[in-house]
Amino acid sequence: MSEILVLVEHVDGEVKKVTLELLTLARSLGTPAAVWAGPGITADAKAKLAAYGADKIYVAGSDDVVDHVVAPKAELLAQLVADKAPAAVLVAATAEGKEVAGRLAVKTDSGVITDAVGLREGFVADQSIFGGGVNVQSRVRRGTPIVAVRPNSTAPEAAAGAGAEEEVAVSLSDGAKAARIVERVKQEKGARPELTEAAIVVSGGRGVGSAENFAIIEALADSLGGAVGASRAATDAQWYPHQFQVGQTGKTVSPQLYIAAGISGAIQHRAGMQTAKNIVAINKDPEAPIFELADYGVVGDLNQVVPQLTEEIEKR
Ligand code: FAD
Repeated sequence: MSEILVLVEHVDGEVKKVTLELLTLARSLGTPAAVWAGPGITADAKAKLAAYGADKIYVAGSDDVVDHVVAPKAELLAQLVADKAPAAVLVAATAEGKEVAGRLAVKTDSGVITDAVGLREGFVADQSIFGGGVNVQSRVRRGTPIVAVRPNSTAPEAAAGAGAEEEVAVSLSDGAKAARIVERVKQEKGARPELTEAAIVVSGGRGVGSAENFAIIEALADSLGGAVGASRAATDAQWYPHQFQVGQTGKTVSPQLYIAAGISGAIQHRAGMQTAKNIVAINKDPEAPIFELADYGVVGDLNQVVPQLTEEIEKR
């Protein structure tokens, strides 16, 4: 079966969950080969990649690959596309993944699909486009299909691959080295999962009413082991930090469960969450547009509903 390259997302030597999802997806379409960019691959990371089906692990371990923003990753993948002629390249539809995908498409003269939420035989992707307003099936007709897949679109399932490691020496162009990372500032990482990777997201909107009241949203998220999100109305009001905004100009999430509390369901908010598998809306207005999208709806005051829900979940 033909090889499918999967760009590994990793932090501090740990493989992110989205990569395991991509390997699982790649297995259904061919033979996955993981591509690790940068130094610091650990024995644990290799074992994990193999456990989720990586037949090969290409390692470009030079510092250069991660010291120059995203361009080197696109050059690394372009080199592998030329050398290995893979059937497709999969990356995570994260901010970085999408930029890598775009640059790679230009370098390899290939078509690119972003924000895929599924991928089938023939590399036909289910894709959410126009800010999430339309779902389409797309297929790349030119070059090597490059597909950026949204986190949480596939349930990761282990199935061992050979995990044969192969060193890759990548010679970067001057252009790829034009911008150098001079400092990395770690974002405060609480106990909660990262918003774009979380299987459960609880978001609050203008209906939450204040920054202090976001504590009830956080409590519900914590009771479910989920992440906290917010609408733009809430982030613009500085009730919650902008990095947690969900929507067209915020993060895109595709969790198994999305709970929207005090959010009306404007198109720009939907753009970031409508591919969630299950949507629960809590809103005091029965006419709120979010109910058109919701699988389950609770018409009521979130100040009562949210704490009651948290209490009930914590009992179990
Ligand atoms: P509202 O629309 O004001 O809705 C508040 C809801 O809370 C109402 O439905 C109300 O019934 C309910 N409510 C009030 N009190 C309670 C209570 N006590 N209990 C239960 N329910 C209650 N928005 C985003 O979210 N993300 C984006 O990325 C984004 N990008 C944008 C980009 C552009 C270019 C533009 C023009 C807009 C963008 N917006 C975005 C803004 C978007 O249009 C909406 O204004 C925003 O999503 C509204 O947020 P909201 O639903 O929290 O507030």
